[in-house]
Amino acid sequence: MRRWNGWGEDAITYPLPETAAQYLETLVGAGLRLEDASLEHVLANIPVSRLSSYPRLSTDPEDRLRHARGQSLPDWIALRSGRVGVFPDGVAYPACDEDVRSMLDYARSTGTRLIPYGGGTSVVGHINPLPGGAPVLTLDLSRLNHLLDLDETSQLATFEAGITGPEIEKRLNARGYTLGHFPQSFEYSTLGGWIAARSSGQQSYYYGRIESLFAGGHVETPLGALELPPHPASAAGPDLRQVILGSEGRLGIITRAIVRVRPLPEEESFQAFFFHDWESGAAAVREIAQAGLKLSMLRLSNALETTTTLALSGKEGLVEWAKRGLSFLRYDEERCLLIAGFTAEKKDKAAREQFAATREVIRAHGGLWTGTPIGKMWKKSRFLTPYLRNTLWERGYALDTLETAVPWSSVLPTAEETQKVIREGLADPSTGSGQGIGERVLVFAHLSHVYKDGAGIYVTYLFRRADDPSASLRASPDETLRRWQALKGAASRVIVAHGGTISHQHGVGLDHAPYLTAEKGELGMQLLEAARRTFDPQGVLNPGKLLED
Ligand SMILES: Cc1cc2nc3c(=O)[nH]c(=O)nc-3n(C[C@H](O)[C@H](O)[C@H](O)COP(=O)(O)OP(=O)(O)OC[C@H]3O[C@@H](n4cnc5c(N)ncnc54)[C@H](O)[C@@H]3O)c2cc1C
Repeated sequence: MRRWNGWGEDAITYPLPETAAQYLETLVGAGLRLEDASLEHVLANIPVSRLSSYPRLSTDPEDRLRHARGQSLPDWIALRSGRVGVFPDGVAYPACDEDVRSMLDYARSTGTRLIPYGGGTSVVGHINPLPGGAPVLTLDLSRLNHLLDLDETSQLATFEAGITGPEIEKRLNARGYTLGHFPQSFEYSTLGGWIAARSSGQQSYYYGRIESLFAGGHVETPLGALELPPHPASAAGPDLRQVILGSEGRLGIITRAIVRVRPLPEEESFQAFFFHDWESGAAAVREIAQAGLKLSMLRLSNALETTTTLALSGKEGLVEWAKRGLSFLRYDEERCLLIAGFTAEKKDKAAREQFAATREVIRAHGGLWTGTPIGKMWKKSRFLTPYLRNTLWERGYALDTLETAVPWSSVLPTAEETQKVIREGLADPSTGSGQGIGERVLVFAHLSHVYKDGAGIYVTYLFRRADDPSASLRASPDETLRRWQALKGAASRVIVAHGGTISHQHGVGLDHAPYLTAEKGELGMQLLEAARRTFDPQGVLNPGKLLED
């Protein structure tokens, strides 16, 4: 069963090797094993639902709890401390367009607010109900999970939008095709959620981000249906598909999506390279992108991420090899790991040439090719790594990530300054209530997605959860939250100051909404608000997300 207060299936754990635990202790101090609230405790405190009974609507407390929060760090703090605050009053499970329309009518006629829910993997508060007078109904779209059509001639597949990543791939792979959209949340996130939050998969360098995979679909809005035909291209005015992409459940409910698929690749490998330092690695990946070499992934870790990845892998031999072998070859403390994905429809000369040309660019920047062992390890754990967050939390550490994208000329300074304010964010007495003073933060980064004109910067940070010896669970959720707010706020301000987007792939939700005007401008915000009013004049859908209202 899926965990109610963390990531993933109950039965799967990601152990933290003892050497890795010592590594973290040296960097940020020993974590405290603070107790979490129990499921029974949280269930016992859920308020009575304000909704009247209706077909396909559940007011079961556990259903409501399991749809109350997503996967952001504030969500974790709320769930683990049992201080969830607001719950949806009910959860409905529509199975067709007509059910969705009926729920929209119900919401409009009863003054209920409606939250579309895909896989609930949002990391920015997208699916959280907000306090207020109106009852809240969460619309769980998991029953909309069918492949409706595969047009092999056009390489277009039509799916119901509540289908998850593994189900999409299972159905397409059986017919020799793939969508190739692999966000790290692949296990639970859904096609509709990817479109609504403008998601990016790990191999989007080859397959494209969701906006280039999304060819059309069907949206149910409070005022009626919106059909989005799958035109391969169109000059008929602004493209309405772009209005739905990133709409975060504010404009309507995507019930079906037509996506561009490809034949399964014959060739795929993930190769590892080391650079002497981050600057030469960044120069190499920029050159590869600008030369138009056809890889599927370029993931360049900075030095601290490289060391931490190897330490957390628990593979002593690998750590030792990096220390001795790589150091012997003068890839010292500043060494940076690049994992490069090579994906090609045909295992042919053209694929070999792309690989050879890439190696040549990397070699010219001082890079060292080490073959596939590290890449295989990465591939094996690519969807397992989020489980480590559970283990870290239980050992007293809070972990979060944030991301942006900027033009190449700003990549290095933005990455550096974002990490600096996080690294120093809890050292300043003014950012904590006493316990924050002198806290160390482990922060590192990688370039996650590269483009001809810039790159996505992905930052991971870890700090200690706060202790309160006088509290029954000894945890201090308020102080842990304050620490997060200090770090996240400082990093977001740096991103905005550098002209970066507030999100390259996670979306806006609640947490990024305060920074959106800086990116879109007042007039741009008015346009978004006007679209929202046009589709949903009564403000039924997902209030407070994307647009602050
Ligand atoms: C461990 C982890 C790793 C992640 N890695 C990545 C990554 O690599 N790349 C990436 O892009 N993101 C990543 N994310 C973020 C998250 O998975 C994405 O934002 C994803 O697109 C959310 O999909 P979901 O189905 O879970 O949507 P939800 O979280 O359920 O909803 C997200 C938003 O979409 C709306 N929505 C959902 N379905 C519909 C629909 N059918 N119609 C209208 N609106 C809808 C919701 O109302 C909400 O506003 C990660 C998250 C976690 C927890």
